[in-house]
This record gives sequence, structure tokens and C-alpha cells, in this order.
Amino acid sequence: MSASATVRCGIVLHPSAHTLSPRLHREAYAELELEARYETFDVTPAQLPETLRRLGEQGLRQLSVSLPHKEAVLELADRATPEARAIGAANTLTREHGEWVADNTDWIGVARSLEPHGPWEGRRALILGAGGAARAIVYALEHLDCQVCVTNRSPERARRLVAELGGRVGAVDDPWDLLVNATPVGMFPDVDATPFPAESLRPGGLVFDSVYRPLQTRLLREARAAGCAIQDGLEMLVHQAAEQVRIWSGWTPTAARLREAALRELR
Ligand code: NAP
Repeated sequence: MSASATVRCGIVLHPSAHTLSPRLHREAYAELELEARYETFDVTPAQLPETLRRLGEQGLRQLSVSLPHKEAVLELADRATPEARAIGAANTLTREHGEWVADNTDWIGVARSLEPHGPWEGRRALILGAGGAARAIVYALEHLDCQVCVTNRSPERARRLVAELGGRVGAVDDPWDLLVNATPVGMFPDVDATPFPAESLRPGGLVFDSVYRPLQTRLLREARAAGCAIQDGLEMLVHQAAEQVRIWSGWTPTAARLREAALRELR
């Protein structure tokens, strides 16, 4: 294959420090022997429309989309999948027939992270947060037939989320089989923060933290000490990236291999 045949992919986000996505995608291309390059485009919201137009003209095959652009790209894309429309956010733009197609693979990352701990049908999930990550999480949990309950610092946002995606608004003292942190609380550098009081953790449930930096958040450490099963946020990140690669290439990289690559980068 000639150099000009190299497929160009990348990520749009702002700011760009600390993203693990280039590491994950490069590992996937290496494993699948795809001649592709993954670039980082640090663009502000004001620069986004022009950047997407230019990158589309330059023939980019796919863009991952991260904060703060996940909602904006849904409107800027030429088309969107039903999943991205339902969630109200997109983390993937794939070029098809000269058009940007917005998709959401975050929810697949959530479902694949939780499936090994299932079955989830009829189980009770309490979600902390009502932003973009929470929307993908609620969509995935509805897909797994969970009973979803959402609580958020701003109650109105939680009300809007459940009105659009299902579930009900709850409170931190609601009973749960699955507790999910979909807020940035506990993320580096505020590693001593936790979104949930340790004394309210009950043994037997699963605690899933969408934060992956650090891998073992204070919430997960306290959950393990309280006798809960735990799931870190790296698995979600790995599976959403693997699904992005599958969408454009037709090949699925090995999740365990991507996870190892991400762990090396985190260390
Ligand atoms: P977002 O759209 O900005 O939403 C943030 C949510 O967290 C909102 O509900 C917000 O409440 C709440 N929140 C923020 N600071 C808080 C605080 N100090 N106390 C209580 N609640 C607080 O962000 P997002 O896209 O949903 O991302 C949230 C987190 O999910 C990220 O920081 C990241 O760690 C994680 N994430 C992980 C993955 C993965 O693949 N593992 C992917 C995406 C995101 P208000 O509505 O009141 O502002």
C-alpha cells in the first residue's frame, strides 16, 4: 500500500492533554495491520464546524469526539444513527459517501463492561450524574432491561434525562444492585473526592466508576472494602474505541490488548 493510501483518523477535543484514545487506536491498527494514522485535533467549539468541513475534504475516514463536542457534532453531522439521536450525543464521526455520520459507541462500551457481571434484567441501577456519559449509561442499562434511577447535582438535568431516555429520578439513598459514577468526581487530580458516601455502600452490589484516571478511584477502593464487586472505567473506554475501529474497518481489535496498551500509558 502506498503512503497516500494510509487512512487518516483522529480525535477532536479541547483541551487535548491526557487523552488515551491515540494509544488505543494505534494499538488497534497495529494488531489488525491497518495502514492508518490517528491524529489529535485540539479545537475549540468555535473552530469545530470549519475543522469538520476541512477534515472531511481532506478525506479523513473517522473522528473520535470527546469533550466538549459530543452534543455539537450531532447537529453538525450530515446524518446520525438512531442510537446517537436517542442518546443525544455522539462520540464518533465516520465518513460515508462524502458525509459525516454521527454515532455513539460509548453505550456499547458500557454494555460490554457490564455484561460479564450480569444478567441485569430487572436489577436496580442508581446512576450518579446526568451529563453525556450518564446518557450513554442509561441508554445501555435500558437496553439490558435494568430498572434505572438517576440522581444529579442539578435535578432538572436528571428530570430531562429520564424523560428522554427512560428510568426515573431518584436519590442517593435509593436501593441498588448497581451503582454507577457518571460524574468526574474522584478523577485526577481530585483523587480524594468521592461522589457517594462510604457508609451507604452495601455489600453484594456492583460499583461501576466511569472515571479511569486513576483506575482505582476512592469510590472503588471504598466499595471493595465494603464488600461490593467493582468495575473501573477503562473497560468502557477500550470497548467504545474497539467499536469505532470496527465501524470503519470491519475488524474488531482484541479488547484485552487495548487495555494493556492503555495501562502501560497510564503507568
Ligand atoms: P458532563 O456532560 O460535563 O456531565 C458531568 C456530570 O457530572 C453532570 O451531571 C454534573 O452535574 C456532574 N458533576 C460534575 N461535577 C460534579 C460535582 N463536583 N459534584 C456532583 N456532580 C458533579 O460530562 P460527561 O461527558 O458526562 O463525563 C462525566 C465523566 O464520565 C467524565 O469526567 C469521565 O470521567 C467519565 N467518562 C468516562 C468515559 C469512559 O469511557 N470511561 C467516557 C466518557 C466519560 P450538573 O448537571 O449538576 O453539572
